[in-house]
Amino acid sequence: MTAARLNRGDPAGLHEQADRDPDGAPARVKITEIFRSLQGEADAVGWPTVFVRLTGCPLRCVWCDTAYSFHGGEWWDVPQLVDHVLAHDTRRVCVTGGEPLAQKGCFALLRELCEAGCDVSLETSGALDVSAVDPRVVRVVDIKAPGSGESGRNRLENLDVLGARDQVKFVIADRHDYEWSRALVRERDLSSRLQVLFSPVWETLAPRQLADWILEDRLDVRLQVQLHKLLWGEERGR
Ligand code: SF4
Repeated sequence: MTAARLNRGDPAGLHEQADRDPDGAPARVKITEIFRSLQGEADAVGWPTVFVRLTGCPLRCVWCDTAYSFHGGEWWDVPQLVDHVLAHDTRRVCVTGGEPLAQKGCFALLRELCEAGCDVSLETSGALDVSAVDPRVVRVVDIKAPGSGESGRNRLENLDVLGARDQVKFVIADRHDYEWSRALVRERDLSSRLQVLFSPVWETLAPRQLADWILEDRLDVRLQVQLHKLLWGEERGR
């Protein structure tokens, strides 16, 4: 991919429409950081990926590792941001946060990145409606277990709109979180139609312990260990 926009069959006018929010103003997003690394989570783990981290989040998970994204940030016009992403010459792009969907410009950003030919994934808290996300985007949706302190914010209606390419991720701090997550997976039969990821809270729950629980219970879920933290610890921008 080159820095030139890869406009694959974009019908006339769509591009302009995607560059504007519903009020007709140019779509903008507030950004904390943009960097290239290896994807550390979910189905695309290990692939070189450009990360676009949007500023702000309405949640406060107790184990949050990106609290630096809650404040500050810099405004970017969506077309300018897409060109910047394309200059990294990397096919995969992950839009993350914070909570990216808390900014209305995020929907235009996701659409524009798809139009530009990128393979786009979205990491979202699961507290906001994901139904209007461009269908070409792979949605990785958290379900907050009690140990996060934010399980009351789960928008479980999202489960009804997710498809086979999408993923749901439970971040698990302890046995109580595990049993809560296991019950929801079984009750909603999530494994039959989605990839279900179980991820231990970094330096709180041993990955091996979570692996043993999953195997003992014969759960059809995928253990996820955060690859970027194994490689670089909690170094920012990795
Ligand atoms: S939703 Fe994500 S960014 Fe927001 S507080 Fe929770 S872990 Fe942090």
